Amino acid sequence: MRTVIGLEIHVQLKTRTKLFCGCSADYFAAPPNTLTCPVCLGMPGALPVLNRRAVELALRVALALGARVQEISRFDRKNYFYPDLPKGYQITQREFPLALGGALRFRVDDEERTVRVREMHLEEDAGKLIHTDDGARVDMNRCGVPLIEIVTEPDIRSPKEAREFLRALRTLLRHLRVSDADMEKGELRCDANISISVDGTMGTKTEIKNLNSFRAVERALAAEEERQRALLSRGGTVEQVTFGWDEHAGRLVLQRAKEEAHDYRYFPEPDLVPLVVTREWLERVEREMPELPWEREERFVREYGLSGKDAGILIEEPARADYYEEVVRACGDPGEAAGWVLSEILSYWKGESPPIGAEALGRLITAVRSGKISRTNAKEALEEAIASGRDPLEIVEERGLSLLSDEEELRRVAEEVVAENPKAVEDFRAGKKQAIGFLVGQAMRKTKGRADAKRLSRIFLEILGAN
Ligand code: ADP
Ligand code: ZN
Ligand code: MG
Repeated sequence: MRTVIGLEIHVQLKTRTKLFCGCSADYFAAPPNTLTCPVCLGMPGALPVLNRRAVELALRVALALGARVQEISRFDRKNYFYPDLPKGYQITQREFPLALGGALRFRVDDEERTVRVREMHLEEDAGKLIHTDDGARVDMNRCGVPLIEIVTEPDIRSPKEAREFLRALRTLLRHLRVSDADMEKGELRCDANISISVDGTMGTKTEIKNLNSFRAVERALAAEEERQRALLSRGGTVEQVTFGWDEHAGRLVLQRAKEEAHDYRYFPEPDLVPLVVTREWLERVEREMPELPWEREERFVREYGLSGKDAGILIEEPARADYYEEVVRACGDPGEAAGWVLSEILSYWKGESPPIGAEALGRLITAVRSGKISRTNAKEALEEAIASGRDPLEIVEERGLSLLSDEEELRRVAEEVVAENPKAVEDFRAGKKQAIGFLVGQAMRKTKGRADAKRLSRIFLEILGAN
């Protein structure tokens, strides 16, 4: 038995205005029903005008996926009644979508995977229903906000792979600057289709609607995979149904059976001319494409000598990759910069902006490289700097964390340690060379980590007359 998954993904495009009118598309924090006009409210006689910027952002995605952009595509009406859809239909592209084909390559546990894309089209979003204790309210601000829908081929083989595909897609969308693709805000959401193939033939699929976190995608698919497998193992048959996902209860919720399938009475949108994407337009979009995540990853390996794995983690978020490059510029050492960002900074990086400025981190790294401060103490200063928002070098200064550079002082400490540890000295003289390590450790303790271990060990060897 083989699991077969295909996704239908909605991405909200980051345009200033909506898809067919001049209303602001920045609805997330706006008071309800303040971003509307006759067009997006579906008043009789109001006419849609296509937003060119939305088309261009969609074209970026199509080009990045290697899809075939259709010179002529068309808008269709999808008719249905719902309180958050004032027009009574959604403008989408059904018969002649903007782009066909393409694929996204990504990694799952170090294995390279490719998922093909079937088609990609433009459409408008609906409004929002808000359920309260005393009934439902409707907010039309989101009506007409531009979306692209990306439909994959059923190439995904496990719930985890579905999650990783979406992650890779989010990385791409962010690098392309077409969407923030924040699942929590509904800027990236997905419907997942799943079936189990027994003896090689395609099985009957079910659909899980409106998954809006990576965790939900993986958990919902895992639950449905298990249900279908158990059913088929007992000799049962899968019914073609649609589920929702209750994230709180961790349960699939049956939404509708096949007989209840909608008839959307699609027909060509009479108020819009076909969308023509000329060669010149497409070439211009191509010239303005930002660096793609896999190009950036490759460049990090080539230019900075990073491993593919480290480069892969750094490019996951464009903001993270930008930050890394700023730290490189500030300290001049790409390897050190990667080490600090990956092992120190990422664990503190929760919100949108980095926990400490790139300049400040760069200066701290430079101080370590030039031997002004030990790595351990630098990390301590960094931790405190992040907690307090202060400059790490200021903390180094204030707490006297910089390395003892005075040879005399180091020698004095070493002599003290030798005097206090006759046993270790005896061991060393009897041929136990590791005893030096113990002595260095003692000296480190005395100096609170402010000594250079290599230098100390040389001094001990000199004192003990081993040189
Ligand atoms: P429908 O006609 O039900 O909308 P489509 O063929 O348009 O189905 O496919 C919708 C999505 O479902 C696509 O992402 C596709 O890859 C996926 N899909 C199609 N058939 C299967 C299947 N047997 N198992 C899993 N996913 C499938
Ligand atoms: Zn409007
Ligand atoms: Mg379909």
